[in-house]
Amino acid sequence: MSNAEIDRRGIMLVVSSPSGAGKTTLTRNLLEKEEDVVLSISVTTRPRRPSEIDGVHYQFIDQRKFDRMRDAGDLLEWATVHGNCYGTPKEPVDAALAAGKDVLFDIDWQGTQQLKSSALAPDVVTVFVLPPSAAELKARLERRAEDPPDVIIRRLRNAAEEIPHWTEYDYVLVNRDLEKSFLRLRSILQSERLKRVQPEDVQAFVDGLLADLQSVT
Ligand code: 5GP
Repeated sequence: MSNAEIDRRGIMLVVSSPSGAGKTTLTRNLLEKEEDVVLSISVTTRPRRPSEIDGVHYQFIDQRKFDRMRDAGDLLEWATVHGNCYGTPKEPVDAALAAGKDVLFDIDWQGTQQLKSSALAPDVVTVFVLPPSAAELKARLERRAEDPPDVIIRRLRNAAEEIPHWTEYDYVLVNRDLEKSFLRLRSILQSERLKRVQPEDVQAFVDGLLADLQSVT
C-alpha cells in the first residue's frame, strides 16, 4: 500500500494575486498536471471578456441573480472586486470534496478571509502570488490586451491595495519564473495532501504492517 492509497481529506487550495501576476497560468497548469484537482467556477456580475467562455471561466450572471444566490446562502464566500460582485457557489465545492477531489479557488483576499474564518478552515490552504516588479505587472496587463487603458490603471491601483494582504496567506510565491513558481505551487499541494491523511487509515495500514512483521520474524 502506498501513501497514495491511504485516504485523505480534500484540500481547498486558494490562489490569490493582483491581476497580471501570472496566477491564471499557474492554476491552469496545475489543473492540467494534477488530475484530482477541480477548479471552483465563480459567479460574477462583471461583463464577459471576449476570450472568456460562460461556464468555463466564470458563470456570468446579473446582479439580481447574484443577490438571490447570496441571500439564499448558496455562496461559500463573496466579495466586491473592481466594482463587480464575485462569489463561489457552494454546491459544486461540496460535491467535489465529497468525491475526494481537491478544489482550486482563484479568489481575492476578501473571499480568502471568509473561507479562513469558516468551519472549512482546517482544509483551506492559501497561496499569494506576487509579481516580480511593478513594471512587469503593467507590461503583462498590457500584453494581455483584454482591458482598456483606464481599466488597466484601475487594476494597478487595486494591486497596491491587494498586495499588503500577502501576510494573511500560508505561502507566498514571487512569480519571477513561471516554471519555478509552478513547481513550488505543485510542491505546496503535494505536501499539504500528505499532511491530511486520515489517522485511522494510517493506523489500519500500520496494524497490517506490524502483523506482517511478526509473521516474517
Ligand atoms: P477578474 O475580473 O480579473 O477575472 O478577477 C478580479 C479578481 O476577482 C481576482 O483577484 C479574482 O481572484 C477575484 N475573484 C474571482 N472570483 C472570485 C470569487 O468567487 N470570490 C472572490 N472573493 N474573489 C473572486
